[in-house]
Amino acid sequence: MELIRKAKGFLFDLDGVFYQSGKPLPGAIDALSYLRKSNLPFRFLTNTTTKNRHTLQENLTNIGLACIEKEIITAGFAGIDFLRKKGSPSCRYFITENLKQDYKEFEEDLENPEAIVIGDFDEWTYDLLNEAFYHVMNGAEIIALHKGKYYKVDSGLRMDAGGFVAALEFATGKKAQLVGKPNKAFFQCALDDLRLVPEEVVMIGDDLINDVNGAQNLGIPGILVKTGKYHEGMIESSKINPDGLIDSIADFQNILN
Ligand SMILES: [Mg+2]
Repeated sequence: MELIRKAKGFLFDLDGVFYQSGKPLPGAIDALSYLRKSNLPFRFLTNTTTKNRHTLQENLTNIGLACIEKEIITAGFAGIDFLRKKGSPSCRYFITENLKQDYKEFEEDLENPEAIVIGDFDEWTYDLLNEAFYHVMNGAEIIALHKGKYYKVDSGLRMDAGGFVAALEFATGKKAQLVGKPNKAFFQCALDDLRLVPEEVVMIGDDLINDVNGAQNLGIPGILVKTGKYHEGMIESSKINPDGLIDSIADFQNILN
C-alpha cells in the first residue's frame, strides 16, 4: 500500500491494533521490532486511560512490546497539560486510582469542583453519575479524556467512557471538552513530537471515528485495521471512508517490503 510505503512516520492506536485484553495481538511484537530495525519513527496515540503513562509503558514492555514513555501519547497524560492550560481548576475525578496518581498537582474537590474529569472508570453507579450531574449543574466543566463508544476484549465488546459523558451532556445540556482522539490538538501533539507534517505520516487504528476520521480531520491519512473492534458492515454503516484497510498489524512488514 503506497500510503504506508511512502510514510516518513507512523501513528498507531494501541488497543485493538497491538494488543487486546492485555496480550499482544498476533504479529504485533514482530511489527514493532521491524519498525525499530528500520528506524521508522512512530508514536502510539491512545485514548486508554485505565493506567497512567508510566504503568502503561511497563505493561507494554512486560508483554513484549518494549517501548519508552515518550513514545506513548495517552489521553490521560494529555489531560494534565489540558488542565494546566485551563488554569489548573479544582477537580472531581471519575478515573482510575492509577491514573489519579498523575493528577496530584490539581486540587481534588469532592464538594464544589470547577471541573469533573472523566476517563475509563468501571465503578459507575447511579449515585456517582448523579453526583457528577450535580457538579455540572453547579457550574463544573465536563472534561472528557475521551468519548470512546466501545472497545473489544476477548469476551466481546464493552461499553466505553463516551456513553457516560454523553449521558451527562444530555442531562445537563452542557458540552464536554474533549482531550484525546479525535481532538485535533491531540494528534498535533504527536506530529510536533515527530517533527513531521500531516501528509508525511499515516494513522493506523481500529476505531473509525477516533482513529481514522480523527486523523483525516487534520489531513493525516487514516487506515483502518481489521482487528480489535472491527466488524463487518462497520464502514458501510458510517459516513467515514478510510484511506486504506489492512487485515492486521502482522501485515505491516510485508506492505513495507
Ligand atoms: Mg483501538
